[in-house]
Formats: sequence, structure tokens, C-alpha cells
Amino acid sequence: MLEIKNLHVKLEEEDKAILKGVDLTVEAGKVHAIMGPNGSGKSTLSYVLSGRDGYEVTDGSATLEGEDLLEMEPEERAAAGLFLAFQYPVEIPGVGNMTFLRTAVNAQRKARGEEEMSAAEFLKAVREKAKALKIDADMLKRPVNMGFSGGEKKRNEILQMAMLEPKMCILDETDSGLDVDAMKLVSEGVNALRDAGRAFLVITHYQRLLDHIRPDVVHIMADGRIVKTGGPELALEVEQNGYADILSEAV
Ligand code: ADP
Ligand code: MG
Ligand code: MG
Repeated sequence: MLEIKNLHVKLEEEDKAILKGVDLTVEAGKVHAIMGPNGSGKSTLSYVLSGRDGYEVTDGSATLEGEDLLEMEPEERAAAGLFLAFQYPVEIPGVGNMTFLRTAVNAQRKARGEEEMSAAEFLKAVREKAKALKIDADMLKRPVNMGFSGGEKKRNEILQMAMLEPKMCILDETDSGLDVDAMKLVSEGVNALRDAGRAFLVITHYQRLLDHIRPDVVHIMADGRIVKTGGPELALEVEQNGYADILSEAV
């Protein structure tokens, strides 16, 4: 599904390398997690995959189902099936959440050459998915993320993901501001979307989230590289012993 090879990225503004040869393959149907100390480049990886400005790829490649992601505009990446949930979801004053969602869904359908969803179809789908995520009608009408609590923003993000039905979902989570209930809801949302044709890359600072979203594979990132890969037990090892042992082994 997602194949990253020897990815090197530097900041556009400064001569500072941030990703220093990331290799990562995520297969369809799998959930991969990336953990790692602060500043190791986890968020940068998700930003570069989404096509955010400010970063320059100096070497390597990233493909989605064999197609070159790095050549695509951000909207083309979304149309190709990439979804990114960010640490800090944006607030959009004056645009109703439902309107925003419908625009996003239909823009993606159009880019894929599919027919737009009718208002009735959309309403039915959004209500169904919102209910499953315990998002009430009021939250659907309010401007996007305005005044939403941390937990509400998270649920809204999962709703966006559920509506867009992406193939490759990348979640960059600080876990901060997520209380246990919100974390459970997000995890359930993710688990409900698990599917043989869909893959997840869950970036997280703490093992806690991975108690609920059980990953198939865990990677540890440090200083711009994946330094260790293992099963779910690797997350437990980090929780118990921190990163020091893994990092000294990796050198
Ligand atoms: P993580 O998500 O693993 O905590 P980041 O990807 O946020 O790490 O950051 C990796 C490194 O790159 C850090 O040292 C950070 O300070 C630096 N960095 C990232 N983006 C910028 C930027 N726009 N300007 C300056 N430094 C940046
Ligand atoms: Mg950070
Ligand atoms: Mg980060």
C-alpha cells in the first residue's frame, strides 16, 4: 500500500536534514505504529507524505499503490486514497461541519471520476457514521472544530476519515488532550475502519493508544530514521524501559 524508500528530507528554509533515510513498507490490511522520542521526525514524515510546504525531499521515494506520492499535489494524494489526521485539527470559522464534510467527500469523488453524493445520500451516511462515533447533530452543524473539545475534535477527525473512506490512513497523535474515553472512541473508530483493503500508520508518543488500537507492526524512529521494527511487544518494551536501550542497541 505505502512504500517509503531511503527518504531524505530537509527544511526548505534552512540547510537542516530532518529525515535521514526512512525505509517503511505498510501492507494493505495492516496497522503499523511509529513511536519515538520527541524531535525524531515523526510529524515531519506525516507532513511530507501529505505534501505540506516547507520541506524538500533530497533523496528517496514514497509511493501509494505504486504511484509516486511525492509528485502529486496534496488534493491528488487525497484522491488517491491518502488521509492524514493531524495533531492539531484546524478550526474553520463560518463553515459548517456538515458542509465541509460534504464538500470534501464530493471533491474526492470528483477527482476519482465518481459521481457526487446526493444531499439525501450524504445526510444518511453522515448521520449513521456520526451516531456510531457518538457525535450529536449539534456538532455536525457547528463551524468546523470551532469550540470543540479535544475529544470532540478527535471524533470529528475520525468522522472525516470514515466519510472519505481512504485506503491509507495516517494518524499523528500526541495523545495529549485525549482523555481515556476519547481515546477509546478514537480507537474504536479506527478499529471499525480496519479492513483488508485499508492500511493505517499510527504515530504516537505513548504506548497507551496502542492498548486500544492493536498494531500489527511497531517501528521506532530516532534521529530521522526507523531504527527498530518489531511486533506489539516493542511498544510494551518502550513503555517499560523507555527508548534508551533501543537507541543504544541501534547505534
Ligand atoms: P516528532 O514529531 O518526532 O516529535 P518533528 O517531525 O516534529 O518530530 O521534528 C523533527 C525535528 O525537525 C525537530 O528537531 C524539529 O525541531 C525540527 N523541525 C521540524 N519542522 C521544523 C521547522 N519548520 N522549522 C525548524 N525545525 C523544524
Ligand atoms: Mg513533537
Ligand atoms: Mg510529532
